[in-house]
Amino acid sequence: MNEVSVRSHPAPQEQTVNTQRPEISVVIPLYNEEESIPELYRSLTEALEALGRPYEIIIVDDGSTDGSFPLLRQLAAEDERLKVVRLRRNFGQTAAFAAGFDHARGDIIVTMDADLQNDPRDIPKLLAKIDEGYDIVSGWRVNRQDRFLDRKLPSMIANRLISNVTDVRLHDYGCSLKAYRREVIREVRLYGELHRFIPALASQVGGAVAEVPVNHQPRRYGRSKYGLSRTVRVILDLITVWFLGSYSTRPLHVFGTLGLGSLGLGILFGLYLTAVKFLGHQDIGTRPLLLLAVLLVVVGIQLITMGLLGEMIIRTYHESQGKPIYIVREVLNGKEDRGERTAQ
Ligand code: UDP
Ligand code: MG
Repeated sequence: MNEVSVRSHPAPQEQTVNTQRPEISVVIPLYNEEESIPELYRSLTEALEALGRPYEIIIVDDGSTDGSFPLLRQLAAEDERLKVVRLRRNFGQTAAFAAGFDHARGDIIVTMDADLQNDPRDIPKLLAKIDEGYDIVSGWRVNRQDRFLDRKLPSMIANRLISNVTDVRLHDYGCSLKAYRREVIREVRLYGELHRFIPALASQVGGAVAEVPVNHQPRRYGRSKYGLSRTVRVILDLITVWFLGSYSTRPLHVFGTLGLGSLGLGILFGLYLTAVKFLGHQDIGTRPLLLLAVLLVVVGIQLITMGLLGEMIIRTYHESQGKPIYIVREVLNGKEDRGERTAQ
């Protein structure tokens, strides 16, 4: 934390009068991968030059503590198509992606890992799909080269779950090799481990998603930064994505439905017990049903209240940020083409 800042790069703004605006931005989060960097840079440059389209490579150094940054600085000094964004500490892969997206200028953004597990030669395949008109193209590691028990198995389960919950059916959410149209990524806000949900989030804002098989290699240097603990975070993030996707504009619909059900059932049991007491003249003080009735009523009221609070929060969210509850693709003969509000 108390790192005395090594003079950082000039502000990330346009000192680029002399360079052509890139069409493709490759964004790579990198954390302690010094051994992989030379090969990564070489193979990526080879693949991108072959495309014959202007490009930039954005490597986000996510607080590496090994020799990664000096090496990147050296490479960047020789190639202005390589941009290095150095974060102050390790913020995690999702944050590194977000930083990369903020610095990317290309119309198409390609993401991949720095550890040589993805193959840059797959990039043309992804771009071809984008050119077909898709907004998001996700890689599918058909022959994934990771351990089975703690990596592939949890990820198989996660892929199933995510596909079912979000209704965006992909075989491999975890693959970093993906391509996006810039407009789509701009709509997506990233928190937690959300980067793997970008296709789902993007599809919620109306993006068309495709999947293509890609190569995958075993990790050659360094080690994986993740283990099983990630699974828990991914499941929690899935709940967020599900909620944001289906109910974020009407939280009362989720909480209220549950609340009404609980309240209704509680009242029913209560009425039944009242009848037993006054019509049947029996003692109800010892009946477990009484406890259940009280619990259901209390929980029901709380859920409804929570939904109402949610409604207020959601209004603050949309109105304070001027966020409309819809997203326009385009307007024909409209006054302004900013996309959001259209005065007729
Ligand atoms: N990474 C990062 N910050 C982190 C952890 C990982 O930027 O806190 C990068 C890492 O350098 C690599 C990519 O994210 O380029 C994927 O990480 P890793 O290969 O460890 O994950 P796995 O492929 O095993 O899922
Ligand atoms: Mg990896």
